[in-house]
Amino acid sequence: MDTNLAEKISTPEAVWKGVQEILKSNLNPRSYNTWFAPTEAISMDEQSIEISVPNRFFCEWIDNHYSKVVHNAITQILGYAIKIKYRVKNDTVPGTPYEATDWQKSSASEPNGSAIQQKGIESPYYTRINERYIFDNFIVGDSNHFAYAAARAVADSPGRTNYNPLIVYGGTGLGKTHLIQAIGNHALKKYPGLKVFYTSSDTFTSHFINSIQTNKVAEFSAFYRSCDILLLDDIHFFSNKGKTQEEFFHTFNDLHQNGKQIILTSDRPINELVALEERLISRFKWGLIVDVQPPDFETRLAILRKKCDESELAIPGDILEYLAINLKDNVRELEGALTKIMAQVTFTAAEPTIDMARSIVAEIAKPDRSMLSIDNIMEYTAKVFNLPIDQLRAKTRKKDVVKARQVAMYLTKSLTHHSLVTIGLHFGGRDHSTVIHAIENVEKALRGDPAFKHQLDAMKKHLEYNR
Ligand code: ADP
Ligand code: MG
Repeated sequence: MDTNLAEKISTPEAVWKGVQEILKSNLNPRSYNTWFAPTEAISMDEQSIEISVPNRFFCEWIDNHYSKVVHNAITQILGYAIKIKYRVKNDTVPGTPYEATDWQKSSASEPNGSAIQQKGIESPYYTRINERYIFDNFIVGDSNHFAYAAARAVADSPGRTNYNPLIVYGGTGLGKTHLIQAIGNHALKKYPGLKVFYTSSDTFTSHFINSIQTNKVAEFSAFYRSCDILLLDDIHFFSNKGKTQEEFFHTFNDLHQNGKQIILTSDRPINELVALEERLISRFKWGLIVDVQPPDFETRLAILRKKCDESELAIPGDILEYLAINLKDNVRELEGALTKIMAQVTFTAAEPTIDMARSIVAEIAKPDRSMLSIDNIMEYTAKVFNLPIDQLRAKTRKKDVVKARQVAMYLTKSLTHHSLVTIGLHFGGRDHSTVIHAIENVEKALRGDPAFKHQLDAMKKHLEYNR
């Protein structure tokens, strides 16, 4: 799935469509078609989404059997959990909708009060802070410890440190949003009543444009200037938006002069935000600019462990390690993979397996996957079976050669995107039906021979790690 989906999705239809896609890939087709194909999104706000279903029976059935997968899917799409309500379509007596089991309440940590504070801000510009983004579940490693320390300092004394503005920059999915929302949550807990406001620069821009169209620029300015802490995410969206930058410049000065805290994030270093006005950039340099880097292996593993602990789902260590080794650049992808495994395990009640992890990783890391060449696989397989590589292409039907050849074909099919025809051609111009036969043979042998399975798993691992 597109990992930036959450940022692009804003309508209930789009959110639900994304949820349906995830469900489709996690449920068997019959269950999906029966229970989820006939559903539609009706509406959505910050706290909940309402879904229409064909009849009353659906509400209970879905809630009893699929509530956790649905919850996980929504969380995956939005990045945070919201309530799910089901309403019977064309209900002649529309009543209160059926509320799904609240997984947030039943499984999440205690709410820390920020929602209540947030609700206190009566405004059309309301955006919520995700209560799950807190310091306690932010894993600190070499890649982010400086940003973390600065964030903590600001959260303890907003507006009273030299870090104003605090700017966090770094690639996508590396925890910027998490970190700045943690500042908000922490400050709200420490200083209840503080006006903490989080929004993305994109939303800031559309609020601004909207306020121009509706003649409400004064309200818009007043609202943004009333914040004690303004968390503005992804300021690279400001590039080339001259009027919005201008407005932000004034808001910025105002807040800064009044000792209010400003916190920004960017996916690029500030001086590289070419289309940002010089005077804004020079303002930004008044404060502290910190970066977050991609996490190292230990940090990635720690993030996965933390996430497992939170969801009380036991995933074996070797699977977590597999994910941490293979998904290096982006914490969001790492979490996404784990969520998918959890969804599969929860739904099918199957044991989590390395194969499950492998196919999920392969899906996420698709572009890389094709980099493993057929020649690499043939060369390595020949070495393992102690044969010259050209034997794999030769006509010979000697038993040990046939076995090696079939294993190499099987590995090629599982580890690359090549078609059966292409694979056949590489193996001495064989027909695609020969390749099918080879794969079937290997699969059969795998089922009956644990030692062979072990050997093949090791070969797959080796090829994947050394691509
Ligand atoms: P960004 O804003 O940089 O694109 P996010 O803050 O949205 O990234 O992070 C993506 C996901 O990864 C979030 O679910 C976040 O909780 C998680 N995440 C990122 N870094 C960490 C970390 N150091 N510890 C725990 N979770 C993290
Ligand atoms: Mg972000």
